[in-house]
Amino acid sequence: MPRDPRHDILFEPVKIGPKVARNRFFQVPHASGMTNAAPHVRAAFREMKAEGGWAVVSTGACSIHPSSDDSPFPCATLWDEADLRSHMLMTEAAHRQGALAAVELWHGGAAAVNRTTRHAPLSPSGVPWMATHVGFMSSARPKVMDAQDIRDLIRWHAEAAVMAERAGFDILYVYAGMGYLPYQFLLSDYNRRTDDYGGSVRNRVRLVEQLIDAVREATGGRCAVALRISMQELRGRPSEVAPSEAHEVIEHLKDAPDLFDVKMDYSATDCAASRYTAEGSHEPVVDFLKTITDKPVVGVGRFTSPDTMVSMVKRGVLDLIGGARPSIADPFLPKKIEEGRVEDIRECIGCNMCISSWHDGVWVRCTQNPTAGEEWRRGWHPEIVRKDGRGQVLVVGGGPAGLEAALTLARRGHEVALADAAREFGGRLRWESRLPGLNQWHRVVDYRMGQLRKLPNVTLYPESTLSAADVRDFAADHVVIATGARWLPHLCGANELPSVPLEAPRVYTPDDIAAGVVPEGPVAVFDYDNYYLGSAIAEHLVGKGCAVTYVTTAGAAAAWGFMTNEQPLVHQSFAAKGIALRTLEVVTGFDGERLRLAQIFSGEAREVAVRSLVIVGYRQGGSALHEALAGVMPRERLHLTGDALAPGAIVHAVYQGHKTAREVGVSAADARPRRDAPFAPRDFQMPEAAE
Ligand code: ADP
Ligand code: SF4
Repeated sequence: MPRDPRHDILFEPVKIGPKVARNRFFQVPHASGMTNAAPHVRAAFREMKAEGGWAVVSTGACSIHPSSDDSPFPCATLWDEADLRSHMLMTEAAHRQGALAAVELWHGGAAAVNRTTRHAPLSPSGVPWMATHVGFMSSARPKVMDAQDIRDLIRWHAEAAVMAERAGFDILYVYAGMGYLPYQFLLSDYNRRTDDYGGSVRNRVRLVEQLIDAVREATGGRCAVALRISMQELRGRPSEVAPSEAHEVIEHLKDAPDLFDVKMDYSATDCAASRYTAEGSHEPVVDFLKTITDKPVVGVGRFTSPDTMVSMVKRGVLDLIGGARPSIADPFLPKKIEEGRVEDIRECIGCNMCISSWHDGVWVRCTQNPTAGEEWRRGWHPEIVRKDGRGQVLVVGGGPAGLEAALTLARRGHEVALADAAREFGGRLRWESRLPGLNQWHRVVDYRMGQLRKLPNVTLYPESTLSAADVRDFAADHVVIATGARWLPHLCGANELPSVPLEAPRVYTPDDIAAGVVPEGPVAVFDYDNYYLGSAIAEHLVGKGCAVTYVTTAGAAAAWGFMTNEQPLVHQSFAAKGIALRTLEVVTGFDGERLRLAQIFSGEAREVAVRSLVIVGYRQGGSALHEALAGVMPRERLHLTGDALAPGAIVHAVYQGHKTAREVGVSAADARPRRDAPFAPRDFQMPEAAE
């Protein structure tokens, strides 16, 4: 299908200094969890985006010196020859697909506390980087950089630039954002220096200017030089000579780099969860750049709608459409727009499971794209599946796992029958996506249903509750059971181990609320699952007019939500909605009138008067249907997947569904993943210590 002419503007080439991007789609640097220890995995992950039409593919943060060590958070390094060879795999892959390769040269300063290399962290004035994020906490405090340290930092950038050019990178970043060292020089809170690098805005931008010059000179102007800069705090600060300090900073730097990459200052606002933040949320902060500079500007905003992208360009906000999450969820987003297949886009849902991977220190995983990170290890392509499927497969259960399994099996060429007890497909997302803020999560269902409906070899059976006899009568060659998990009304001990089911009036689980129960208020929601559902149910019940108290064993609401950047926003939402918050408490009993609680460390007993209790704690998988069939069907023809196999988040269900579908009829030997290995350091001299 020809592309919509309204989207033509997105496919215009853009000049970035000495380089030309073939279109306006720019995969900006983002955390992938892939260090130099997995060079083939990383190259294949990025090559997929280049193949999918992105004009530029970038590394994540790439440390230029051992004094910038973020461990245990994964990051790339460009310290020596061995690193160089590891990056060359990626640049060759990008070029093979016609894309430019960019590297984000990075020094974390006080935000990287060098847990492994044990260098003293560097900073302009000895102020630690804020530690609101549990994972970043450290008792190490940074040293104040002297004049030699500043000269060293500039030299390290130049040396890294030389290596980067040798590795084949086209665009070299200077990174002055997100709390990292050059950014710390820009902000007066961190920069209290009285030399040429501190005080006035003019002085505070000096280091960034010198870094840009050093990178350009080191590579003789052959590579493009990009500046990545956070604008949120600076935009909020008054200036005597400009509308804000951000305007003043950009005025000084407007001719310095070949490209501006603009972003927010904090992960929770930069990579905001869709639950509380809409597409394009950066615009009010970054909209002024193009009124000051003639250089191209790239920015992000979880853009998945081509119309929004066109509007960004036409209204003069951005020249290049930056993508991090949308490029993970759908590496082929540009190609699909180019080919007029907008309805085939696998839109990012903004759940932030991807960023949680980095917080976990592992390769990126994605709810929408189960192949992300598996391109090399398992040889999974997000769009192409080997067409080797023979015979018929019956998939029972049309939640995230069953939908993904059915789609992948159908793409393999199997005849697929997908049955679900409910009238609508979608499983847990039928209801969960109707909870406050979660409507974009329904894209998991919309994408898969849209694709399934196009395939001639798929038959859908809604309103079909299947028994073991039904399944046997169907006589499919393979059966995939994806019937989900159940929430149980179990209490737990102070260590959050599930104990016994609570038997009392008006005790509910999420499954009851999903079935339409509106509990009599006041209600307590007891959450020891600690992800989104407990807090989302609390918000939902407030919307139904209930007075709600949220109780958790953890130290914060939605405690695991700090991994997905949701947690601070959950607290803001609770305050706005009047939800009472009780932390570090465990429910010890309930009689329908009084909820008994104990402080988890001291055991101190407390009581709250409530009429109903919702327990969001323990989920159980398993399937009676699977058990019944296991005795009568050959093992290799019966497959259990998704939450029924092991209850988890939607990302786990989609991944399991995909894996099951790839492995139906395939031998274990053929399904075995490959192992990546780093290049051995050769002739490597550790660069001089900073201190
Ligand atoms: P997952 O996250 O693993 O995909 P869900 O709980 O979201 O699991 O979805 C499971 C789906 O299975 C639900 O839509 C439910 O209606 C369906 N289901 C459960 N048991 C049966 C059955 N015996 N026959 C048909 N559908 C079933
Ligand atoms: Fe988007 Fe979620 Fe995938 Fe991240 S994990 S790219 S937020 S769908």
